[in-house]
Amino acid sequence: MRRINRLLFVLLLTAAAAARAETLDLASLQNAEEVSVIEETPWTYPLPYELLEGNDYIVLANKTHLLSEDYIPEDLVKLTCRKISSDPIQMREAAAQALSQMFDAAKEQGVTLYAHSGYRSYRTQKTMYGNRLKKNNGKDDGVVAVPGSSDHQTGLGIDVINKAGIGKRFTSAFADTKEGKWIAENCWQYGFIIRYQKEKEDLTEIIFEPWHLRYVGVQVAQYIRQRGLCLEEFTAEWQAAVAAYKAAGIE
Ligand SMILES: [Zn+2]
Repeated sequence: MRRINRLLFVLLLTAAAAARAETLDLASLQNAEEVSVIEETPWTYPLPYELLEGNDYIVLANKTHLLSEDYIPEDLVKLTCRKISSDPIQMREAAAQALSQMFDAAKEQGVTLYAHSGYRSYRTQKTMYGNRLKKNNGKDDGVVAVPGSSDHQTGLGIDVINKAGIGKRFTSAFADTKEGKWIAENCWQYGFIIRYQKEKEDLTEIIFEPWHLRYVGVQVAQYIRQRGLCLEEFTAEWQAAVAAYKAAGIE
């Protein structure tokens, strides 16, 4: 519906521009015709077109979709929610706000969460990767992610743990803790998904990480949860829908 409203708005603008010129020239007519053709093409995907195309909250970063060296979100802010230490942690603004709301809601229900690590720059990833290679005689053993492949570079990924986990290695046992269960049940309401699910390891190529949350916005998080998708599957799905829609619009 929103798309149709926008298109009607475009039509009105076109008409207004023509009225100003006091003549309805050929270009305006053609423009109006093109707009109405697109309007009649059905958009059948369950989520609105505007929520998908050009939405950088749903950006995909993995081994086959590497972010570039200069992919640095412009709206990074320091987290104000509970953290494992006083060291600053950055996330994109919307994600940071959503995380604070989630932590507050959890706390009200007797669940105390701690932010562990958020935004990780390309340069940091490169250093970590280089150090690992040095340790491993120049060979990539898969322990440290290739630079550009980290979900943390989006500024939307965050590792969240409980008090017992501070200073310890992350393990999938976190999923069975009170905090891990609360996150799995409730994080979508704040726009987060568990980025690396157990049953999606083949697709994400990352082991189950019940502590790694990824902000995508509430509508998308809810959809991904309902459909049981991982971000890789969701991306393939919506991009196919947009491509088909655009192809239909041109005909
Ligand atoms: Zn993580």
